[in-house]
Amino acid sequence: MAVHVINEANRCLNCKKPMCMQACPIHTPIPMMIKAFKKENLNEAGEMLFENNPMSMICSLVCNHENQCEGHCVLDRKGEPVHISSIENYVSDTYFDKMQIPCQPKNGKKVAVIGAGPAGITIAILLAKKGYGVTIFDSRDKIGGVLQYGIPAFSLPKSILERYKLKLREIGIKIRPNTIIGMGNSAMDVARTALRKGSRHVTLYARGLTSQASDHEKLPTQSWMARSWLSSGSRWKSMMTARYLRRFSLMRMAIRPEWIRLRCRFRQIG
Ligand code: SF4
Repeated sequence: MAVHVINEANRCLNCKKPMCMQACPIHTPIPMMIKAFKKENLNEAGEMLFENNPMSMICSLVCNHENQCEGHCVLDRKGEPVHISSIENYVSDTYFDKMQIPCQPKNGKKVAVIGAGPAGITIAILLAKKGYGVTIFDSRDKIGGVLQYGIPAFSLPKSILERYKLKLREIGIKIRPNTIIGMGNSAMDVARTALRKGSRHVTLYARGLTSQASDHEKLPTQSWMARSWLSSGSRWKSMMTARYLRRFSLMRMAIRPEWIRLRCRFRQIG
């Protein structure tokens, strides 16, 4: 065990009114976690962290600790605050792989989470714990969103996101990468670009029965966009079929001879 981490934990005064905890936006139970860690109850400390915040391991690396927990630690007034981030990182990193996330029995309801960024991952875990069947859709090929594509690897090693991916799958969360949500003009452009760039399958999901993303796009996009899409390559021979299943319809456009497919899935909500 890292000596530095133990020394830092021993410096904590276990304040009755912990300013560190109050300054944390999600009120991480810092003194309780440190107390459990000092008693060598690492699992208990890890459970406290992840119960409060499923992204604990990531927050321990990328949070603005200087202005939050550590910046408000009472020892900061005397010069050196407790290095809370190191303790949190050690505990969460050590506990993460052996963590068993307790999930309630399946309630038969399905939830689609759009975006595999930190918010998407967090809500997916919370819903899976409540028994929902969760699928995360993301337009990129890897999970993490800004954590994957915005924060440099020296601040946040990408292997952590791979570990999160395994953990999500472990509790039955499905991940659908390379999927565009929306059916407006922008989504159609993105879909066509993806196909031109070599993607073999592109799927667009929409919550209405027409291919328009919002009220701002009230044009009859379904027809002209589909036509424009189909005619975007003269050598492509197109075939279009549509079938409606109660409130759910599927329009599939298959482009030959490349075996490339654009799938449009419509769902009426509300
Ligand atoms: S404010 Fe500092 S000393 Fe007090 S409980 Fe928090 S980390 Fe420990």
